[in-house]
Amino acid sequence: MTDSSDTVAAVDPQALQEEALAAIAAASSLDELDEARVRYLGRRSALKLALREVRDRETGMALNAAREAIEQAVATRQHELERAELDRAIAEERVDVTLPGTPHPRGRLHLVTQVRREVEDIFLGMGYEVVDGREVETTRYLFDALNMPPNHPTRSPLHTFYVGEDTVLRSETSPSQIHTMEAKPPPVYMVSLGRCYRRDTADATHYPIFHQVEGLAVDRGITLADLKGTLRALLRQLFGAEREARFVTHFFPFTEPSVEVLVSCFQCDGDGCPMCRHSGWIEIGGSGMVDPNVLRFVGYDPEEVSGFAFGWGLERIAILRHGLPDIRDLWANDLRFLRQF
Ligand SMILES: [Zn+2]
Repeated sequence: MTDSSDTVAAVDPQALQEEALAAIAAASSLDELDEARVRYLGRRSALKLALREVRDRETGMALNAAREAIEQAVATRQHELERAELDRAIAEERVDVTLPGTPHPRGRLHLVTQVRREVEDIFLGMGYEVVDGREVETTRYLFDALNMPPNHPTRSPLHTFYVGEDTVLRSETSPSQIHTMEAKPPPVYMVSLGRCYRRDTADATHYPIFHQVEGLAVDRGITLADLKGTLRALLRQLFGAEREARFVTHFFPFTEPSVEVLVSCFQCDGDGCPMCRHSGWIEIGGSGMVDPNVLRFVGYDPEEVSGFAFGWGLERIAILRHGLPDIRDLWANDLRFLRQF
C-alpha cells in the first residue's frame, strides 16, 4: 500500500493532506484506519520520504504541517472508531432478560423403568419390601432350589446363558425368592424387580434381555385367596379399576398349584378384539402357591407356613398398556419413540 514513488519532489503537501484526511474519514474500522495510517504516515509513505529529502525550510514546514494534520486526524478517527466499537459491543452484549433462556433438554425415565417404579410403589403401598436380586446366578439357585428336575428344558444352554459350569445369567427373577427366604425366617412379603436373560431370538414379542417383577408372600395361613386378591389389586392399579382378573390352572415347577393370570381386555372390555385374540382376556403372567419343596429347601416348615409367588414381565405390562407393536422398540434407543412416554 505504501507509495514508494521516486518522484518525492513532486509531493504537494496540500493535496496529500486532503487525500489523507479523506481516506481517514472514510475508514470505517480500526483496521481500515491503520491501513490509511501506514499509507500516509508510514516509514515508506510519500510524506515521510519527502520529509527525508526536504531541502528548504518552507517545504519542510508545509510537509510537517501536513504530517501533524494527518496524525491529528488519525488520532481523532481512532477515538471515534473505538467509541463506536465499544457502543456496538455494549449494545450487542446487553442481556435481554425478556428473551427465552437456553433450553436444557430434560431427560426422562425409560418406559420400562417407569413401569418398574410404579410396580414397586404399588407393593410398597401393600407393605412389601423391595429386594435386589442377582443377575448372575448359580444353577443351584436358578434351577435346583426352584424344584427344576435335571432334565428340565430351561437348564439347557439353548435356553439359558451359561457363564461357567454352574454359573448362569438368570432366566427369571425367582432365585431372589430363595435368597430372601434363606436370609430370614418367615413372614416374608417381598418383590424383586430386575433384568433377566434368555437365549431367545429377538422378534416382535421376544428379546434376549427383559425385566421381571418377582413377588413372594410367605406367612401362616396364606391361601390362594390371598394370591387372587393381591394380584387383582395389582392388575387394577396397572390397567384400571374396572378390570376383572381370571386365574387359569397352569404348571410351574416351583408352585403348586400354579395359575396363569389373565386380565379382562381393556381395549374391547371383553367383546373381543385383536389385542385379546378375540377372547376378551389377556395373559399377564404366571403365579401359584409356593411348592412345599421350595419351602423345605430354604429351611421353612411347609406345615407351619405357606405362600404364593408370581413372576411377570415388565415389558409385557408396558406393551399392553400402550399397545406397542414391537418389543424391540424398547431397546432401539430411538428418542422419538421413547419420548412419547
Ligand atoms: Zn379385547
